[in-house]
Amino acid sequence: MKGKANTQKVKAFFKKNIYYIVMVVCILAIAAMITVAVVLGGKESVEAPAPDANLPGNVDEEPGGNVNPPEDNTPVDTEPEPIVFTIPVAGGTVIKDYAMDTLVWSSTLKQYRVHSGIDFAGAEGAMAVAAYEGVVSDVTYDALNGHVVTVDHGDGLVTVYGSLDEPAVTKGQSVSAGTELGAISVSATGEMADGNHLHFEVRLNNEIVSPYDYLTLGDK
Ligand SMILES: [Zn+2]
Repeated sequence: MKGKANTQKVKAFFKKNIYYIVMVVCILAIAAMITVAVVLGGKESVEAPAPDANLPGNVDEEPGGNVNPPEDNTPVDTEPEPIVFTIPVAGGTVIKDYAMDTLVWSSTLKQYRVHSGIDFAGAEGAMAVAAYEGVVSDVTYDALNGHVVTVDHGDGLVTVYGSLDEPAVTKGQSVSAGTELGAISVSATGEMADGNHLHFEVRLNNEIVSPYDYLTLGDK
């Protein structure tokens, strides 16, 4: 009896308060969902930005860290050290400049011509010297260019020393910057009116290039 009455009371209670009970359950369910959402959302807002912050952060904040090392390493790995020539006549002065883009007067040939190198004059008996280390790849003579020594520096870079007196080196000989190649002279009849001088040419991959790509003179 007593138990039955209690059960009925409980039933009556539920029946009477069903809406409140459902509401409480709903509120609890909503609260649980909000909690889950906050926790997950919190995780996302903590974790998701973390990778975001790391990836762009490494690019944005440390471009120096991520981008520069390859930039620094690549040139170091691929680019050779810049080649700097020794002036091929010690104390020599430029009497005719390199002029492949403009015509200059040739007092020997009595005409305007391009000048494929730099003419250095010097004291009598002044020696032409190798501008850079390499191997003598040719020693030739012809009336127009006189005695000519050619030095191969590797990687397609070649220097040519014309209008020499008797060459002081032989083909196949290794030279250093400053090795004497021969005295400057007027052996190049094509430039003989210019007096004793060295006609100095630079070629890269068989093309004439400006000696100033490798040579710095006081007034240049
Ligand atoms: Zn010349």
